[in-house]
Amino acid sequence: MLKCREVTALASDWLDGDLTTAQKLKVRLHLMMCRHCRNLVDGLATTERIIRDRLDAELPIPAELQQRTTEAIEARLRTDQSGRN
Ligand SMILES: [Zn+2]
Repeated sequence: MLKCREVTALASDWLDGDLTTAQKLKVRLHLMMCRHCRNLVDGLATTERIIRDRLDAELPIPAELQQRTTEAIEARLRTDQSGRN
């Protein structure tokens, strides 16, 4: 079973489909059991979709959006590190 931090690290590759079959299965299993990671991946997926739509339309990606996403992920990683009992 993957740890939340491992899933967070793999989330971007997971959305890009860059994981091996074994990794995909592990991530999927973790997401089925972990609401936190599901929320994180959902948020990341939404952001990536917005960015992709904008790239397709050749619109600029708001720096604020990238910034917010990065901050959210970093905050999440910090919580994982310190929030365990
Ligand atoms: Zn998790």
